[in-house]
This record gives sequence, structure tokens and C-alpha cells, in this order.
Amino acid sequence: MRVPMIAGNWKMNTTVSEAVALVSEMRQELDKIGNIDKVICPPFVSLAAVKELIRGSSIKLGAQNLYFEEKGAYTGEISPLMLADLCEFVIIGHSERRQYFNETGDIVNKKVQAALKSGLKPILCIGEKLEENEAGKTEEVVTEQLRTSLAAINNVSDLTIAYEPVWAIGTGKAATGGQANETVSFIRQLISRQYGKKIAEDLRILYGGSVTADNTTEFMRQPEIDGALVGGASLKAGEFLGIVTQTSEIRGR
Ligand code: PEP
Repeated sequence: MRVPMIAGNWKMNTTVSEAVALVSEMRQELDKIGNIDKVICPPFVSLAAVKELIRGSSIKLGAQNLYFEEKGAYTGEISPLMLADLCEFVIIGHSERRQYFNETGDIVNKKVQAALKSGLKPILCIGEKLEENEAGKTEEVVTEQLRTSLAAINNVSDLTIAYEPVWAIGTGKAATGGQANETVSFIRQLISRQYGKKIAEDLRILYGGSVTADNTTEFMRQPEIDGALVGGASLKAGEFLGIVTQTSEIRGR
């Protein structure tokens, strides 16, 4: 059965000392909440400090990006080998990276392959823009994103997918539970077609986009949604704890 996950994407927020303070504020409470995966994804520079702080707890660590080469003359980049030493998960293909850093489907595919090769568990983000949604192209867009992101990848057992409609990210306008569940269900069908029913049933698919402690219940009551990728609300200890607690109560196993 799929273990639910709440992952906090801190984006480009917090200095190292702020990251340490935020984790210290929620570590004890977060550690107590069982039956789901609780992942925090601070900026690269805070990974080592946060890793020390959560040592021995049930909290897991993720990065927000990586480069697909293992090492070499790529000034400023961070490789999968470096991350595999520090954390378990890595967010790949976030819409902000696609939008501001021109990440194409081909680059996302190389990153997913590189992450899997080095033992990192990718959280692959896909989702349609507002105009695509309004034009009724959601299914077409996620089909194409999934096709390119997973090209030549045979084993998806370590993969988590996050369906994040771009129009819902950071806008305060979350999708409805029903809308999100429908698209997540469609994504599962695509996985089933490519990898078979069993693998699709085991694959974790999250919803992301303006999730807060106030609307968590709506998403976690949907049968196809296995958790959430949380941006803004993951930077507030009380909000994040609220989201994780409710998810554990509704979906924990
Ligand atoms: C995100 O960054 O992945 C995200 C979903 O952000 P927010 O929760 O702020 O919409």
C-alpha cells in the first residue's frame, strides 16, 4: 500500500540559522506523528545542518533540485552524488524551474535518471498552466510531461509524482479536491499504461498548490491523492504541523 507523504518545499527561503530555528521549532512534534512520510526540503546550503538536527528522528530530508552530471566543470551546480550523501529525496521539474531556468522535459528526464542512478528518490513535479487549464488541455499537458520526464526509465518504484497545477502554486487558489483527484487518477492511468497496473497502484502521487492547514482535509479525503507538496505553508511550523497531523489522522497507516 502507498505510504502518504507530506513534503515541504522551502524554495529560496531561510538562511542556515533560520532553517535551524524552523526545524528546531517543529522537530519534536513532527517526529511524533506517525504513519506517513514527513519530508522537508530546505535550500542546499542548509541540508548538512538540518541533517544533523533531525538525526535519529522520523523526519526525512530532500533537496529542491540537482544537476544531472556526477562531477566536473559545471561551476555552481550540485550533483546527485553530493546529494545522495546528505538526503533521501529530491524535487525535480518544479514549475518554477521550468519557468525561470528553462528546464525542458529533456533536462527533467536527465535529472530523474541521474537521481535514480545515485539512489535518490525523485519527487517529479508536473502540472498545467492557467491558459492550458482554461483551454481544457490539462490531460494533454500532463501526458506529454510524463512521457518526456520518464522516457527510457524502466523502474519507477522509488519515484513520487507531484501533480501541481501551475495556477495553484503560491496563488492561494488551490484546486478543489475533486479536480485534483480527477487529474491524479488520470496520471495513475498513464502510469498503468506504461508500467502496468501493480506499479501504478503502488506509485505515490501528491497534490501541490496552495495547500494549507485549512484545506488539507479536502485533499486527503480524496482516494487517489497520497499527500501533498507544500510550499508557503511549510515555512510556518504551526501550519506544517497542522497539515502533517491531519494527513496522518485521515490517511496514516
Ligand atoms: C510548491 O512550491 O510546490 C507549492 C505547491 O507552493 P505553494 O504551496 O506555496 O502553492
